[in-house]
Amino acid sequence: MERTELSDLGEFKLIEKLTSKFKTYHPSTVRGVGDDAAVIKNRSGLTVVTTDLLLEGVHFDLSYFPLKHLGYKSVMVNLSDVCAMNGKTEQITVSIALSNRFSLEAVEELYEGIRYACSYAEIDLIGGDTSTSLKGLVISVTAIGTVDEKKITYRKGAKAGDIICVSGDLGAAYTGLQLLEREKQIFIENPDIQPDLENQEHIVGKFLKPDARMDIVKLLAELEIVPTSMIDVSDGLSSDLLHICHHSNVGCKLFESKIPIHGDTYNMALKFQHDPTTCALNGGEDYELLFTIDPAELNKFTEDHNVRAIGEITDKAHGYKLISKSNNEHDLIAQGWQHMNQ
Ligand code: ADP
Ligand code: MG
Repeated sequence: MERTELSDLGEFKLIEKLTSKFKTYHPSTVRGVGDDAAVIKNRSGLTVVTTDLLLEGVHFDLSYFPLKHLGYKSVMVNLSDVCAMNGKTEQITVSIALSNRFSLEAVEELYEGIRYACSYAEIDLIGGDTSTSLKGLVISVTAIGTVDEKKITYRKGAKAGDIICVSGDLGAAYTGLQLLEREKQIFIENPDIQPDLENQEHIVGKFLKPDARMDIVKLLAELEIVPTSMIDVSDGLSSDLLHICHHSNVGCKLFESKIPIHGDTYNMALKFQHDPTTCALNGGEDYELLFTIDPAELNKFTEDHNVRAIGEITDKAHGYKLISKSNNEHDLIAQGWQHMNQ
């Protein structure tokens, strides 16, 4: 494969190469890449801003994370945070630090993924920064979105009696990561062996190419539901539900039997001798939306909406409980998501 050294190109040419293929979708983007700062036209309603910093070796491992997927995911994790506020992203900025290990072609792969995410979600790349890193790749994405004052959803706001709902299914990304880690170890020991991902598109896809649940934000608007609280599941169901409880000053009762787990996740968890429920509770990186609604709204959801009621909010005095399949009550504890090197 061709390799163009970044040092032969210079920073301005690199930025030009990376950003020239992007188009813009929003009239609120008055000026994007190219000036000293981007310009956004103010509008009514609220602006939400969120940012994430991803470090090679801490948040991702390039030995099994294709650069294109990494670019896509770096954008999606930010869009997911905007979704969790019940908002819609309009712009992003992307900052990167590169070591001389990376060629122009490699960085272009990364930006292919970023561009794919931008066109899929119809968002405008309006700027960023480019710098040198002594070791490893650093990516930081900032997302800027809008939300109606009447629709903004915080972690606080859940009330006793509310129903706890979650989109999609949980634990898939974690089991996908386990599979990739296993294949990496096999590869380190014997580089001639090709990875065997066992046709596990669902779990590997959920880890390498998660989609922010913009469709759920749209669905909530169509059904005229404003959740009383919302968060995206990035650390794991137990930890993220506890965030809602702490911010809202309430307790919860979560039913193990109701937690949505995909068949592939279930089988792979067992293969790794993990409890599938533990993967769903503590796995993390699912990027599903966890929210609470008034019980009167629950019947607005139908079977094919891909949203499940998994528990209810209680008074704080009842504590944080998981009701097991055999109907025993356990305390819900936050184990959270362990990043690779922590
Ligand atoms: P400055 O010297 O003011 O920081 P730069 O030369 O870094 O300006 O950036 C020039 C333009 O390119 C700005 O509009 C900036 O937002 C944009 N930009 C720089 N790096 C990136 C990047 N990695 N991705 C997207 N846009 C970028
Ligand atoms: Mg700069």
